[in-house]
Amino acid sequence: MSRHRSPSGRRAHHGFPLPALAAGTGTGGAHRATSLPGTPVTRIVAVVVAGGAVAATAQAVHVGALDVPGLTAMMSSDAAPTAPAAAGGVAGAPVTDVAALADPAAPAPTADVLQLVAARGADLVATTQQQLDAAQQAQQRAVQQAQEQAQRAAAAAQAEAAAKAAEATRAVQIVTGRVSSGFGARGGAMHAGLDIAAPIGTPIRVPLDGVVISSGPASGFGLWVRVRHDDGTITVYGHINRSLVSVGQHVSAGQQIAEVGNRGQSTGPHLHIEVVTPGGQKINPKPWLDSHGFRYT
Ligand SMILES: [Zn+2]
Repeated sequence: MSRHRSPSGRRAHHGFPLPALAAGTGTGGAHRATSLPGTPVTRIVAVVVAGGAVAATAQAVHVGALDVPGLTAMMSSDAAPTAPAAAGGVAGAPVTDVAALADPAAPAPTADVLQLVAARGADLVATTQQQLDAAQQAQQRAVQQAQEQAQRAAAAAQAEAAAKAAEATRAVQIVTGRVSSGFGARGGAMHAGLDIAAPIGTPIRVPLDGVVISSGPASGFGLWVRVRHDDGTITVYGHINRSLVSVGQHVSAGQQIAEVGNRGQSTGPHLHIEVVTPGGQKINPKPWLDSHGFRYT
């Protein structure tokens, strides 16, 4: 076994033809020489038949060295035209053929293919872009429609709120009673307000938003409340039985601020209402109340 793996044995088995010939003489292992597939000449021929240009060129050197007439003739220039594929690397003519195949033909198809791919890619990009644009436009339309719908809903809600506010303003029932005395001269004196007879404790509600500027005792009125509204108009509530607000307090339209009473210079339970313009002029409350839709009976 050790003899089979010796370095000399390996060289005899896988070496070039010359060592193999030496092995064949019996100088190496005899059993190795018998395993060789053939003589050096047959192996050279097999390589020439099956090999490419490089192998054929290499073998031509060995054929010339061995001086085999048939093989030398096969590798001559006459053999090249009959077998251009196998002898492509040997003679000049096949090289020209290869160049002809590679040079003029290759660029054109490549350019066409590239142009085709580019055009097709451009079409795909354009189609995709169109689809994206369509989707984006649809999304924008949806958003716009939603915004318009929201705006319409907001406008409707705002209009409804304004209508309710207007209705609430008109609906303010300042007091419920009956007109017992109007604005004007009365018994040689000036009655500067509107009297509404009502039981003591009847709620008095402020008709507009405002700020309380008086709440407490007042000469002639016994007890009063005054409210200055946003436009500067002041409303006065006299002879009240009780105030529910304090000076500086913000009040809202419809809010109860006092109760009907019989305090001060009064001949019976009633509410004395005065309206003072921003300029300080006391006006007839009835047209003002009526024009605003406030109720007092
Ligand atoms: Zn009065």
